[in-house]
Amino acid sequence: MRPFAYVKPADAAEAVRVAAEPGARFLGGGTNLVDLMREGIERPDTVVDVTGLPFDTVDELPGGGLRIGALVRNSALAADHRVRTRYPMVSQALLSGASAQLRNMATVGGNLLQRTRCPYFYDHASACNKRSPGAGCDALDGFNRGTAILGVSESCVAAHPSDLCVALAALDAVVEVQGPDGTRRVPMAGFHQLPGDTPDVETALAPGDLVTAVELPAAPVAANSRYRKVRDRASYAFALVSVAAALEVRDGTVTDVRLALGGVAPKPWRATQAERLLVGGPADETAFRRAAEAELAEATTRQGNAFKPRLAVATITATLRDLNGGVTAR
Ligand SMILES: Cc1cc2nc3c(=O)[nH]c(=O)nc-3n(C[C@H](O)[C@H](O)[C@H](O)COP(=O)(O)OP(=O)(O)OC[C@H]3O[C@@H](n4cnc5c(N)ncnc54)[C@H](O)[C@@H]3O)c2cc1C
Repeated sequence: MRPFAYVKPADAAEAVRVAAEPGARFLGGGTNLVDLMREGIERPDTVVDVTGLPFDTVDELPGGGLRIGALVRNSALAADHRVRTRYPMVSQALLSGASAQLRNMATVGGNLLQRTRCPYFYDHASACNKRSPGAGCDALDGFNRGTAILGVSESCVAAHPSDLCVALAALDAVVEVQGPDGTRRVPMAGFHQLPGDTPDVETALAPGDLVTAVELPAAPVAANSRYRKVRDRASYAFALVSVAAALEVRDGTVTDVRLALGGVAPKPWRATQAERLLVGGPADETAFRRAAEAELAEATTRQGNAFKPRLAVATITATLRDLNGGVTAR
């Protein structure tokens, strides 16, 4: 590992000031950044350790939402009784990720900013536009079982790896950011960027921008919610396809639904088309499947991931069916 300076700032303003300098990186739990430094993919001049900052609580918001500090550990958030009862999909998403030891270290802010697990991003001998802009993309015709099928470009097909972010996207979470010009709020929908021809630009953050919290708005529908993750092993693996879903049904009609997908796109994918088709329609298996098929209609597959659209349709359908009390037809 290359030598670097280590700074542990006393407050957020100092953290932002130091991190705005070129070559600086924030350190949360370190479970992703330190790996990337060991691999020589991240080569920071200065590591800004933010774990001493007072962003480690989950607080009530007026109106029934929650404000989650960026330094809350993934395991603590998954165990929070308000999260478990009001937003079960968030707790389930967290518990489906990594291992208990990693979740004890990993922070909410770091989870939002974790980098892709595309193998070509990690391999210096391979072409990767995300790691070296303009180099090309060996994943296009390489081992692409885990890569994305929605929102991709010819420059990059890397999938976003986070489970938590899929649930946050479904719930219209808002990211609170403190930067050199003050504090601002960024909706999850615009926080992660699609690759286009600049896959190295992954988020709406600029140098020095520190994630301080994530706000979960009140969402009564989320009490009936689920996170379902399909992967090659039963645990300790990233998603091939995942679904964060919440469903409210009255008299057989869908009155509210939230749907987001993981493992299929370069960002947590809010399934807005499927949601639009479902609201006001019948809560049955046929409608669930049609909505899922419409969402996946524009998927671009490659040799290794041609199975993903069917897997995604089946997973969405099954998750909504479970949330509908297992009812397959009326
Ligand atoms: C073996 C393994 C398996 C895993 N499996 C899964 C999985 O199945 N699902 C899943 O979702 N995740 C998985 N993870 C990823 C894990 O969840 C992330 O490593 C973790 O969430 C990152 O959090 P951290 O606090 O350790 O981030 P760090 O490693 O500290 O930082 C990650 C990035 O975020 C930046 N950063 C950190 N905090 C802030 C902040 N407050 N503001 C701005 N930038 C910040 C850092 O500069 C860095 O670029 C796995 C990781 C490993 C090692």
